Amino acid sequence: MTGQVVVVGSANVDLVVDVPRHPAGGETILGGDLRRTPGGKGANQAVAAARAGGAETTFAGALGTDESADLLLASLERAGVRTDLVSRVDAPTGTALITVSPDGENAIVVAPGANARLELTAAQVERIAHADVVLAQLEIPLGTVRAAAAARRPGAVMALNAAPSRDLPADLWDAVDLLVVNEHEAADLARAEGTPEDLAKVLLERVPAVVITLGADGSLVAERDRETVRVPGIRVAAVDTTGAGDTFCGVLAAGLARGLALAEAARLAGVAAALAVTRPGAQDAVPAAAEVEESAR
Ligand code: ATP
Repeated sequence: MTGQVVVVGSANVDLVVDVPRHPAGGETILGGDLRRTPGGKGANQAVAAARAGGAETTFAGALGTDESADLLLASLERAGVRTDLVSRVDAPTGTALITVSPDGENAIVVAPGANARLELTAAQVERIAHADVVLAQLEIPLGTVRAAAAARRPGAVMALNAAPSRDLPADLWDAVDLLVVNEHEAADLARAEGTPEDLAKVLLERVPAVVITLGADGSLVAERDRETVRVPGIRVAAVDTTGAGDTFCGVLAAGLARGLALAEAARLAGVAAALAVTRPGAQDAVPAAAEVEESAR
């Protein structure tokens, strides 16, 4: 049985330059060669879901009509993501300007462009209505996330990766079936401090299920009326953690769409994300299903 995933979210071209240090205001410095790589939370997560296999993944996002759009479409299609419903709007494709200092610290400015203009079309709403899992993030207008949640069929899972961190209006909390957040986002949303278990307990008062990702320590899976479980991290030599969270979310969504229990889907997502951090880049670092199965044994 093949599940259906629709990812409603952003796509950005990442313009990346290595710099000896980040420039101060008013300063110009010379960096290394420019790299143009496909990114954006929505597109990254769609690539991860498609590569995970077992589910058909549609990306419902907005791109401009520029060269950056072509780069992003090519990457999505290479991964097997359905791009037939991608909107083309009269705005530049989303772009992230990223400088990376020798200690690996990133400084990032995002120009949302087309992402800020993402409004669901009738065809996108129709595809969402047939999905088993709808996965969104917060790099697009909140109204669009709300519309995606409203379009899902009864029994489908509305998963929200609440990143980047921002407050959620009450009606959006009510529309979410599964919240996926890292520890910082969990603390922000819970307006609390404490262990991941403490934060999950607070968040479960608002949503039926929560996964908190814990970096190298794996993740925490919490569902109402079930015992909360820790999924241990996988020890790897980390090369580049960019997109680890996105790989996790995409693989998690694909696992749920093919009927896995949340904890089992989180275990596979953790294996995939750990493999992704051993490779540079975001979308290019996402492992194929066979590699994940092999490492998960
Ligand atoms: P990012 O913003 O770097 O993409 P994030 O802050 O959203 O990530 P993390 O909790 O750091 O999310 O990582 C997501 C998942 O990736 C973790 O739950 C874990 O499974 C895996 N992961 C991240 N870093 C490591 C690491 N150093 N070693 C092994 N697994 C990792």
